[in-house]
Amino acid sequence: MEQPAPRLVRVLVPLPLAGPYTYAAPDELGLAAGDYVTVPLGPRHVRGVVWPGEVDGAIDLKKIKPVLERLDAPRLSVEVMNFVDWVSAYTLFPQGAVLRMVMRSGAQLDPPRPQTGYLAAAAIPAGVRMTPQREKVLEAVRGLNFPATPAEIARRAGVSDGVVRALADAGALEKIESDPDAPFDPPNLGRRGKTLSPEQADAAATIRRHIERREYACTLIDGVTGSGKTEVYLEAAAAALKQDPGAQVLVMLPEIALTLPFLKRLEERFAAAPAPWHSDLGQAGRRRTWRRVADGSARLVVGARSALFLPFSNLKLIIVDEEHDPAYKQQDGVLYQARDMAILRAAHGGFPIVLASATPSLETAVNAQGGRYETVQLPSRFGGATMPDIRLIDMRETPPAKQEWLSPVLIGAVNETLARGEQAMLFLNRRGYAPLTICRKCGERMTAPDSDTWLVEHRFSNRLVCHHTGYSIPRPDTCPHCGAHDSLAPCGPGVERIAEEAARLWPDREIAIFSSDTVINPAAGQELLGRMREGMIDILVATQVAAKGHHFPNLTLVGVVDADLGLVGGDLRAGERTWQLLSQVIGRAGREEKPGRALLQSYQPDHPVIAGLASGDRDAFMEAERDGREMLGFPPFGRLAALILSGENEGHVNSAARMLAAQVPHGQGIEVWGPAPAPLYRLRGSYRIRFLIKAARDVSIQNFLRAWLTDVKIHSSVRRTVDIDPYSF
Ligand code: ADP
Repeated sequence: MEQPAPRLVRVLVPLPLAGPYTYAAPDELGLAAGDYVTVPLGPRHVRGVVWPGEVDGAIDLKKIKPVLERLDAPRLSVEVMNFVDWVSAYTLFPQGAVLRMVMRSGAQLDPPRPQTGYLAAAAIPAGVRMTPQREKVLEAVRGLNFPATPAEIARRAGVSDGVVRALADAGALEKIESDPDAPFDPPNLGRRGKTLSPEQADAAATIRRHIERREYACTLIDGVTGSGKTEVYLEAAAAALKQDPGAQVLVMLPEIALTLPFLKRLEERFAAAPAPWHSDLGQAGRRRTWRRVADGSARLVVGARSALFLPFSNLKLIIVDEEHDPAYKQQDGVLYQARDMAILRAAHGGFPIVLASATPSLETAVNAQGGRYETVQLPSRFGGATMPDIRLIDMRETPPAKQEWLSPVLIGAVNETLARGEQAMLFLNRRGYAPLTICRKCGERMTAPDSDTWLVEHRFSNRLVCHHTGYSIPRPDTCPHCGAHDSLAPCGPGVERIAEEAARLWPDREIAIFSSDTVINPAAGQELLGRMREGMIDILVATQVAAKGHHFPNLTLVGVVDADLGLVGGDLRAGERTWQLLSQVIGRAGREEKPGRALLQSYQPDHPVIAGLASGDRDAFMEAERDGREMLGFPPFGRLAALILSGENEGHVNSAARMLAAQVPHGQGIEVWGPAPAPLYRLRGSYRIRFLIKAARDVSIQNFLRAWLTDVKIHSSVRRTVDIDPYSF
C-alpha cells in the first residue's frame, strides 16, 4: 500500500542561501509557521524557522528530508517573518541573511544553563588591598545589571581574568547563580514622569493621539539639543505601554549614545531597568534580552540598530532617537538603514513611530514638509537655558604658527573659561596623533599594505593604524621605503596632537582625551564621563564620541578646531553631515544656567555650511541642500543604489565590470554611472569597482537591479554587493 504523502513545510535557515527549503513535517512535532527547528542541510544539522507560504508544488518527494526536532522557544511572530521578507526584498540580500540578524548565533535556542556570574559585593571586606587594576574591575561591575563571567568582567575592565578572580576570592565580588532567562521587572506605569512644559505636553499629546488610533503614523520631534525631546518620547512610550497590557516599545539610539546614564534615566522613569541590546552586552545578557523579547515579557527595549531585528511578539511603538545619525546605516553584512527599516516595520505593523532629532536628515525633513510625517517642534531649551552663542574664527586672518592649531582667539576664550572655573571642550573629529605620516627624505606616504588607506599615527600606543581595516604596526624608526633614519614626519593634527598643544599652553590644567582609543571599554568611558561631570577635567579634547547625549553642566565653551574637516571629499552628504555633527557638538555647551558659547575655526567661513552654522539659519541651509538634491534627482527626490564589485584578482574584477557595463538593461527613469574605482579602490587586498544607479522616485530600483544581475554571469571570484541607499554618494 502506498504511504500517505507527508505534510511539507518550508524552512528558512539563517544562511545566505536563495530562500526557504522544503522539508517533511513529522506529525508528532505539530509544526506551525514561526517554529524554530533543526533540519539536515547537506551533511550538517542547522537551525532554522518554519516559514509561511506555499511549498513548491514541483518537488521530488523522494529527496525530501524530515525536520529533525522542534526547539523550545516562543514562535517567531508573523510580523517579524514578514519583516524579514520585506527587508530582503528591499536590500536584495537573501532572506536567510536577514533571518540571521534575528536568530544571531542561535545560542539563545540552547536549553538554559544556570549562569554563574559576579556582581559587585555590597561592601568591600576590610583589608582588601586596592590597586588601579582592581579599581577598574569594581568600576566595571558597578555598571552591570546582570551577573557576568570573570572573562566578561575582565574584558569590560580591560584587565586580565586573574585580577577579577583574585578580587572575587577576596570577597569584593559577589558570586551569583542566576536564571539565565530571568525576567525583566515590568515598567511601573503608575509612576509619573516630569511635569511637561506646555510645548512638551502638546508634542506628547500629538503622539498619544496616534497611539490611541492604533495606526501607523510617523511623527518627527524636531527640537534643539536640550529641549526635552527625551522626556516627550518617554511619555509616548508610557502611553503605548499603558494602552495594551502586552505592548512592547523599542527605543533605538545610535550605539554611541547608549550609555549607562541614558539607561539609568529610563530606569528611573519606569522604576525598572529596560531590556538592553547593544554590542557590549555579553553572551548571557544577549540571550536574556532575546528570550524575554521573544516571549513578550520584556516590555521596554532600548537598543542600537540591530535591536530592530529582535523577535518581538507584540511591538506597538518604535522611537528612533537621533534619527539623522549615520550610525543607523549598517555598513557590513546586510546593508540596511535602520531608521528606514524601522519606518517600514511600523508601516506594515500598523503602529506609530517617532523620530527625534535636533538636526533632522534631509530625507526626514522633506517627508515632514510633504506631510508624510507629522512634525512637533521644541524650539527652545528646557528650563530657559539658552542656546550657545556661535562665532566663527577666520583662520586666514590669524593663522596659528606652524605645528600649532589653536588660534589666539580660541586660546583667549579657553583662558576666560578656565578663569571662571568652567570647562572647555576642544573638538576635532580625528582620532590619533596625525592622519598622515610622510618620509621627509623620499616623500613616501605610509599606507596600509594591500589598501589605499593612510596609516594614522597614534602616540599613546606608538603605532601606525589603519582606521578602515584595523591593521597596525609599531611606528618604525626608519622609512620602510628609503631606509632613512628619523625621517618620518607626522602631518596634520589628530586629537592626541591637539591635547599635546593644550598641555603646552595650559601645563597646570587637567586635560583628557575622549575618543574611541582612550575609551576602549564602558568602564573607561564611565570613569572619564564621571571625572568630567565632577569637574576634575578642565579641558576635554574630543572626537565625535563626545558629540551625543552627554550632559556636562559646567561645560561652557566648545572650540571646533577644524570646522571644515568634514567638507572635503566629493560626498554629496558631506555638508549635511558636517552640519549635524557640529550642531550636536555645539549643543554640548551651556546646557544649564551658565550660558555657553562655541567658536568655530575655519579657513572657508563663507562656505554655506559654516556660514549657516554661525548664523544659526537652519532653514536656509536645509532649503539650499534640498534644492541641490532635487536638481540632481538624488534622495529623497530619487532613488540611489551602489553596486560594488570586488575581488583579489584585478583582471577578473575589471572584466566583470566591463561585462556588466555592456549589458545594462534599458530602464525608464534609470541612469547607471560607472564603472569607476570605488572610493577605496584597494582594501584588504581586494580591488573594488563601483557602479551608481539612480532611479526616479516611482521606479523600482530593486527590479532593475534584479533583472540586470540575474542576466549577467560574472567570474565566481568576484563578489557583487548591492547597497541600496548608500551612505555616501
Ligand atoms: P533632548 O533630548 O532634547 O536633548 P532632554 O530630554 O535630555 O533633551 O532634556 C534636557 C534636560 O532638561 C535634561 O536634563 C532633562 O532632565 C531636563 N528636562 C527636560 N524636560 C523636563 C521637564 N519637563 N521637567 C524637568 N526637567 C526636564
